Amino acid sequence: MISEDRKKWYYDSLAVLFLTSPAYSMFRDFLNSVPLEDLKSGVAATDGTKIYIGPLYKQYNASEGAFIIAHELNHILLRHPWRSVGKDRHLYNIAGDYVINDTLHLKDLPNIPLPGKPIPISDFLNPQESKRAKAEADDMKGILYDESLKDYDTDAIYRMLENSKYRGQNEGEEGQEEGSEESSGQPSGKQGKQREGQENENGSINGGDVIENENEDSQDETVKKLRESVNKWRERQSGAGSGTDAEKRLLDLLDIKEILPWTAILQRYLKSLVASNYTWSPPKAIYLPPGTAGNIPNTYVPRLRERTIRIAVAIDTSSSIGNADLNVFLTNIRAMFNAILMQAGYSGILMLTTDRVYSAFRMPPVPSVDTVVSQILPGGTDFVPAFKFIEEYMQVPPDVFIYFTDGDGKYPDKAPRYDVLWLLTPNSTATPPFGNVIRFSY
Ligand SMILES: [Zn+2]
Repeated sequence: MISEDRKKWYYDSLAVLFLTSPAYSMFRDFLNSVPLEDLKSGVAATDGTKIYIGPLYKQYNASEGAFIIAHELNHILLRHPWRSVGKDRHLYNIAGDYVINDTLHLKDLPNIPLPGKPIPISDFLNPQESKRAKAEADDMKGILYDESLKDYDTDAIYRMLENSKYRGQNEGEEGQEEGSEESSGQPSGKQGKQREGQENENGSINGGDVIENENEDSQDETVKKLRESVNKWRERQSGAGSGTDAEKRLLDLLDIKEILPWTAILQRYLKSLVASNYTWSPPKAIYLPPGTAGNIPNTYVPRLRERTIRIAVAIDTSSSIGNADLNVFLTNIRAMFNAILMQAGYSGILMLTTDRVYSAFRMPPVPSVDTVVSQILPGGTDFVPAFKFIEEYMQVPPDVFIYFTDGDGKYPDKAPRYDVLWLLTPNSTATPPFGNVIRFSY
């Protein structure tokens, strides 16, 4: 059970989280349905199956709350409640907090201020200082954050803390665990190892918010729920995400393959095309300083190849591509070509096709939507004429040919020597015999 005010704070914070970081809306269903419980002290905690909210929530506004809930969610995604079993729970919690807070602040939630004053790891590596640091962290609304740890994972930081022989809070406090598992709303049994009666410990987001969970089945259950939440999110988005780093990291944690929107795939492709168009070659003449003869370093300088990138684009107007689709396609192509290809220099053709090529434009520029729409003709579908057109009218074959179609038509018998990207409409079930397939959506 959770009291109304805490529940309200939780949902207000969630709203800010989803607005600030669209990647976190993958867990909307999970966070909306995870059981919430009151916690006696501190701000928040999790055992991987529930999220606990403590009285100190009042110190944090909804924006800070968004950070704190993302923090608890990451403990779950990183399986900290289960992975801390058999380890020094407190040290493991501190290690996990550094990893999570660094990730949230530097990557996932850069627009939300840290909900507290940063407490560097050095404060914990000194056994004399650690206890004071910990208490101070909680008293002054501190937060375990240290940019120098950004490339470390939880286990690495845990070993670092263990090696420093810091045992701080765990020494001489074991006895207090007993008699602390009675009160209602608190985790019980094996999961109830968190010590109550220590205001600064229980539910403290500074090393006191991970509740050990020895139930491995509950881990499987939770992971299943997280995956279901991602699937529901995908249904709502008709598949693809936005390809952000946060999204990729969160999906990786659940071993879910990233589905990139066609724009992100095409962008990456075009960027690699520009990059590969630079060739590393030795300078034509090397003037050696005296005394270096026979000891010539391998000096290479990047040179732009003496040619521009060549692109062919075809739009199959016989298929189910409507004006809205065309608009999205052309607007994105135009923006991408301008942003990525213009500097390197590109040239090419854009064809409108049915069972023939009935219209063709030289690029740049990418023709406007109005221009294209004014020319559109209906007809059957045959992909062969566009490939023939390229052969005939482009003296040098293109680096890439992008064909926007529903994929339902006659294909050439064999693959051309250049790359082909089939951009297929969302409900297409076609499997082109060669080339790469990208799904169109918006
Ligand atoms: Zn934490």
